[in-house]
Amino acid sequence: MLERKIGILGSTGSIGTQTLEIVRSNPDFKVIALAAGSNVDLMEKQAREFQPELCVMWTEEAAKELRLRLSDTSVTVLAGMDGLLTLAVMPEIQILVTAIVGMIGLRPTIAAIKAGKIIALANKETLVTAGHIIIPLAAKMQVPILPVDSEHSAIFQSMCGQSRKKVSKILLTASGGPFRGKKRQELLDITVEDALKHPNWSMGRKITIDSATLVNKGLEVIEAKWLFGVEPENIQVVVHPQSVIHSMVEYVDGAVIAQLGVPDMKLPIQYALTYPYRRPMEGKKLDFYELSSMTFEKPDTDTFKGLPMAYDAIAAGGSMPTVYNAANEKAVSLFLNREIKFLEIYDLIQGAMENHKVKENPTVEEILEAEAEAYEYIDSHRRA
Ligand code: NAD
Ligand code: MG
Repeated sequence: MLERKIGILGSTGSIGTQTLEIVRSNPDFKVIALAAGSNVDLMEKQAREFQPELCVMWTEEAAKELRLRLSDTSVTVLAGMDGLLTLAVMPEIQILVTAIVGMIGLRPTIAAIKAGKIIALANKETLVTAGHIIIPLAAKMQVPILPVDSEHSAIFQSMCGQSRKKVSKILLTASGGPFRGKKRQELLDITVEDALKHPNWSMGRKITIDSATLVNKGLEVIEAKWLFGVEPENIQVVVHPQSVIHSMVEYVDGAVIAQLGVPDMKLPIQYALTYPYRRPMEGKKLDFYELSSMTFEKPDTDTFKGLPMAYDAIAAGGSMPTVYNAANEKAVSLFLNREIKFLEIYDLIQGAMENHKVKENPTVEEILEAEAEAYEYIDSHRRA
């Protein structure tokens, strides 16, 4: 019995609902608290099924509605950032699954680490913007940060039992997204529907667009740098369209250790929740007789500029990865609202980065300022 007591930030999303599926199949896991943006219907269902002590909704209206609907239960309902921060430090919670999308997860994640919670981290945007705060803080508090992102889980699993000092390279695999093989000219009139069709993974809308631009891979390079303490020049992105190898680690003697599996986020989620143990899991397993081939390519960084821009952001350091991330968040939401074209996402990130003056070692306030500045840059640039 592991008896994990879990809080989930972003319980109504892709990672959040899959986390709850894992809880459902592990009867000794208990949900203590759930938080989500605005989906009151699903949150009500989740609250009735998992009976948490606390539910948090982002807006006051959504919280009010949920409070009304759950008035026959003992569930407490809170709203906004105060609600997220209250959830993050609840004494009953052992593991916080950070499955919220975007930089909004930053402050609750820091609060949870300070309160000694184990972090099952899906919300890569927090590490991208504040890795320099989160990693030393987690080390000081002796709080493990367990990766949920499939590539980082694979790297983590490939490092178990090995000395991190003997790692020579991380090989971060990428599916290449729905537009692999296309050139810039062919991406001029990409629609939202085209970009939302990911070949291998079913995920939230923002990360699906990020996978099409390769910004997701860029964010993952930065995430890997912080999680594993590897310099960016030793993180090599390898396009592997079948998504069978979830990532690999090369050691100083040339040995390469990889983790393979079917593309299903439930495995990395469950591993983060059961670590250091493994438990059986239902579902399809790899069949090597069926798997006729695995192929590998170099990423096309001339077309998919989201990846080289991430290396530029790390090289500039300080607050620049925040600008890369924030400009992308804003540009993706404009694209999803059909206000800009697909390739303009790159132009807006590039422009926001060129416009930014780097602040070294930014505090949380300075990170939020850099975010606001990137948003303003895009707003004014869009109006111009
Ligand atoms: P999603 O859009 O499906 O879900 C996001 C969740 O966050 C929802 O529950 C939503 O209600 C909640 N949320 C959004 N804004 C909020 C706010 N202001 N306050 C409270 N809750 C809010 O996203 P997703 O695909 O599940 O991704 C979540 C995170 O996990 C992202 O950081 C993503 O990069 C990362 N991730 C996802 C996958 C995947 O397969 N989906 C894989 C790896 C990493
Ligand atoms: Mg990933």
